[in-house]
Amino acid sequence: VPARAIPTSFGFARAHRAVLSLDTGALDEVLSLDRTSQTVRVQAGIRAAALERKLGDAGFTLGHYPQSFEYVSIGGCVATRSAGQNSTGYGSIAEMVDGLTLVAPAGRIDALAVPHTAAGPDLRELIAGSEGVLGVIDEVTLRVRRAPERRAYEGYAFADFASGFEALRELAQQGALPDVARLSDESESEVQLAQSSGTPARMLGGYLRARGRGCIAIIGVDGDERAVRSRGAHVKRVLRQAGAAPLGSGPGKAWLHGRFAAPYLRDELMTLGVMVETMETATVWSNVEALHRAVASALREALEAQGTPGIVMCHVSHVYETGCSLYFTVIARQAEGHELDQWRAVKRASLDVITRGGGTVTHHHAVGEDHREWFAREASPAGVRALAAMRAQLDPTGIMNPGKLLAG
Ligand SMILES: Cc1cc2nc3c(=O)[nH]c(=O)nc-3n(C[C@H](O)[C@H](O)[C@H](O)COP(=O)(O)OP(=O)(O)OC[C@H]3O[C@@H](n4cnc5c(N)ncnc54)[C@H](O)[C@@H]3O)c2cc1C
Repeated sequence: VPARAIPTSFGFARAHRAVLSLDTGALDEVLSLDRTSQTVRVQAGIRAAALERKLGDAGFTLGHYPQSFEYVSIGGCVATRSAGQNSTGYGSIAEMVDGLTLVAPAGRIDALAVPHTAAGPDLRELIAGSEGVLGVIDEVTLRVRRAPERRAYEGYAFADFASGFEALRELAQQGALPDVARLSDESESEVQLAQSSGTPARMLGGYLRARGRGCIAIIGVDGDERAVRSRGAHVKRVLRQAGAAPLGSGPGKAWLHGRFAAPYLRDELMTLGVMVETMETATVWSNVEALHRAVASALREALEAQGTPGIVMCHVSHVYETGCSLYFTVIARQAEGHELDQWRAVKRASLDVITRGGGTVTHHHAVGEDHREWFAREASPAGVRALAAMRAQLDPTGIMNPGKLLAG
């Protein structure tokens, strides 16, 4: 596609770059399933939902369920290092990649499918998260697991957010993590309660009223009957010792049922003049409480400064031995006529505090253009130059997703 100079009142000063958009949707085949090694080789355009269906028919699962599960492609997930709702147990998509192929303007990289390699820096790790700027991922080999016989998802109530994430830390550091671990802070728990109905909601409402405030967690274990029973019993014991009140399977079933629904509600609210935005990060356990407090305050202050005070809530959804993710949601009245300024102010306030406060600029939403400025701070100037040099080798004329991840 030729670049075209556009005549302006100052002459041919502004170059217009035509945009070619690539749809990987036709690359949608499962190429092979290695039942012995438990790996599947796929074309990268296959949708996560379609792959999960095909794997299910063969008795396997990928276990990758981002909230956008219904529509995402596997290549898109790898290109953004996405994390699913079960990634505490199954790992993020980058941890599932055994091998992949990248087709770049200057050549092709075939990263061998092996469980581990010490052959230099891991090219799979450099390509996962490259957001299309190095080339197109056209094939991926992924580790799969046996499809679970059972999914046991239960609700728990904690006195407060800190005791909830201390309990998750204990599980992580014992090596006893469940597959789903999702803990809402006090504000998010109140909003969830207001949205729910039925017996679990009544039980939880009673618990929270008796204590003043509290936090809800959804804890899920997948596997065969015996593993679910023994892992589930151990998780329950640890959580009870940490002060959690079990709420039974009702909240877990309700969460499973509506797990992909929130974005549809968000879109509806936005058409009604409500601002809804999410920001996410990850940090180490010793910093979780401080970062949670700092980001929540920054978001509240930024909304108030715009004259639109709102609700700021947060949950932990991905848990590791050394720390966890924090996912913030803000809801406020849209500043009519200044919606973009309002959004920018809120985004900037949270990202400044996240990067100053020891959090990563994004745990799983990736960088794109919105986070690029803060990614450059996180990666350090030499880190950015190293990535730019790699891009220049693979895409010398700069045609692959210019402006994403890296400037220019
Ligand atoms: C409502 C909603 C909910 C979400 N929930 C989650 C969540 O729970 N967890 C999570 O991790 N993310 C989430 N995301 C973000 C997003 O869904 C993920 O980043 C996902 O991995 C993107 O996949 P996609 O196929 O839609 O990619 P796209 O959005 O089409 O592309 C994303 C980026 O990857 C590049 N890309 C796509 N395919 C390839 C390829 N084959 N080779 C090279 N580059 C490629 C694109 O150029 C683009 O820069 C959510 C997004 C939305 C809109």
